[in-house]
Amino acid sequence: QVRVRFAPSPTGNLHVGGARTALFNYLYARKTGGKFILRVEDTDTARSTRASEEAMIRDLKWLGLDWDEGPDVGGPHGPYRQSERTAIYKEQADKLVAAGKAYPCFCTDEELEAMKKEAEEKKLPPIYRGKWASATPEEVEAAKAQGLSYCYRFRVPSNQNVTIQDLIRGEVTWNTDTLGDFVILRSNGMPVYNFCVAVDDACMGITHVLRAEEHLPNTLRQMLIYEALGYKVPQFGHMSLILAPDKSKLSKRHGATSVGEFREQGYLHTAMNNFLALLGWNDGTEQEIFSIDELSTKFSLDRITKSPAVFDKVKLGWMNGQWFKALPEEQSAAMSGGHLVKAGLLAQPDSAFVRAAVKLVSKGVELVTDVETEVRKLLAYPLEETLASAEAKAVLDDNFPEVANAVLAAYESGELAAALAKGHDGYKGWLNAVGKAQKRKGKRLFMPARIALTGRCHGPDVGEQLDVLGALAAGEVAEAGAY
Ligand code: GLU
Repeated sequence: QVRVRFAPSPTGNLHVGGARTALFNYLYARKTGGKFILRVEDTDTARSTRASEEAMIRDLKWLGLDWDEGPDVGGPHGPYRQSERTAIYKEQADKLVAAGKAYPCFCTDEELEAMKKEAEEKKLPPIYRGKWASATPEEVEAAKAQGLSYCYRFRVPSNQNVTIQDLIRGEVTWNTDTLGDFVILRSNGMPVYNFCVAVDDACMGITHVLRAEEHLPNTLRQMLIYEALGYKVPQFGHMSLILAPDKSKLSKRHGATSVGEFREQGYLHTAMNNFLALLGWNDGTEQEIFSIDELSTKFSLDRITKSPAVFDKVKLGWMNGQWFKALPEEQSAAMSGGHLVKAGLLAQPDSAFVRAAVKLVSKGVELVTDVETEVRKLLAYPLEETLASAEAKAVLDDNFPEVANAVLAAYESGELAAALAKGHDGYKGWLNAVGKAQKRKGKRLFMPARIALTGRCHGPDVGEQLDVLGALAAGEVAEAGAY
C-alpha cells in the first residue's frame, strides 16, 4: 500500500510551494487508495511554533486535503510531531553506534574550528577528519569518564556511489566522498534534521517521498541512514521549483505567496487546488478545469514535469472566475453578501439585491472583491464626469436634454417606476414610447437614456441595472455616503 507524507516545518505560513507538495501527495494517496500522512517537523525549536502548526493545519483543511494520520488525528505510527519522538531517534542512533556505523565524537568547538581553518588553508572540502572516527573503546570510555560532552557522528563509507531513480528527475548519483562524517545527534541530545527525516520515513512505512527539488541534496545523507539501519529505501520524486513569471524564484516581492493570503483575498479553495495541480502536472490534454475528485482519479506521477512551473497569477484569477461562476447561486450570493457587508456597502448580507447584483455582474468577475467593484459602479452615478468625456460628445450634441428631461419627468411622475414594476422588459417598452414621441431610435435613443439613467456610457443592460437598483428600496445599502 502506498504511504506518502507531507512534512512541513512549522516556522511560518503554508506557502504555495508547500501546498503543492501537500496536494500532490494527497492526490497520489487518493489515486492509489493509499494513506496520506501529516508529519510536523519541529526539531528546530528556535524557529518552530505551535501557532504556525495550527495555521498550517487550518490552511490544509481549507484546501480540503484531509490526512489519514497526523498529530491531530493520531494513527498507528505516532507521535506525528518530531519534537515528541526524541526517544525514537536516540534509540536508533544508539543502534547505529552499537553497530559501529556511528560513533561518539568529543571534539570541542575550538577543535572543530581549527580543523575547518586547516581545511580552508589546504583547500580541502570542509568535512570532519577528526580523531574520534578511529578512537578505541578505551579512549571513548576515558573521555566519558572525564564527563566530556559528545555528539554522535554517522560514519560515512568512503568513495561509494549512491544512486536513486528519481521518479521525476531520473537517475541521480552522488559519491560519498563529498560528505564528511555528519552529526546525527547533538551533544544536547537533540537529533539532527536529516536523521529525523530518514528515521521517520522508515518507521512510518513511507513508500514514496514526493517533495521539493531543494531537498534533493539531503537525499544522500538520508539514503545512507536508511541503509545503515537496514530499512527499505522509499522511492523519491523531487518536484521542480515554482518560478515567478519573470523566471526568478517566487518570493514575497511577487505578491501573495501564502495560502492564507489567497484565502483572505477571496480565492476559492477549488480554484486554488486546480491551479496548484497544474503547477508541474497535466493530464496530457488541453483540459484546465479539474475538481479535486477528478484530480484524485487522473493524477499520476509520470505526468509530473521536470521543468520548473511558472506561477501565473493571471491564470489563477481566470480559474477563480471559472469556479466562482460555477458556484450555486445561493453560495455566490452568500459569499458576495458577506463581502459587501465587510466592505461597508450593505447593512445585511442576505437580500434580493445581492442575488440580483451578483447575477448582473458575475460575467466579468474573477474574485469576490470584483463583485464589490462592480456593485460600487452600479451604485455610483458619475454623470458629470461622463458628460465631460470625449465619448459623450456625440450624444450631447444630439440634443441630450430632450431625452434626459423625458427620463426626469417619467421618474417624477412615477411612470418609470410603473414600467419597471413589469420587469426589465417594462423598461424597453417605456423607452420605445419615448423614442416614438421624439422620433429617435437605436443608438440615438438608448445612449442618452443610458447616460441619464446610469451616469455612464457603458455597463450591463440598463433595464437589468434598474431592476437591481429597485431591490435597494428596502434600505439595504448601509449608508448613502459609503460609496
Ligand atoms: N520539513 C521539510 C520542509 O518543510 C520537508 C522535508 C521533506 O519533505 O523531506 O521543507
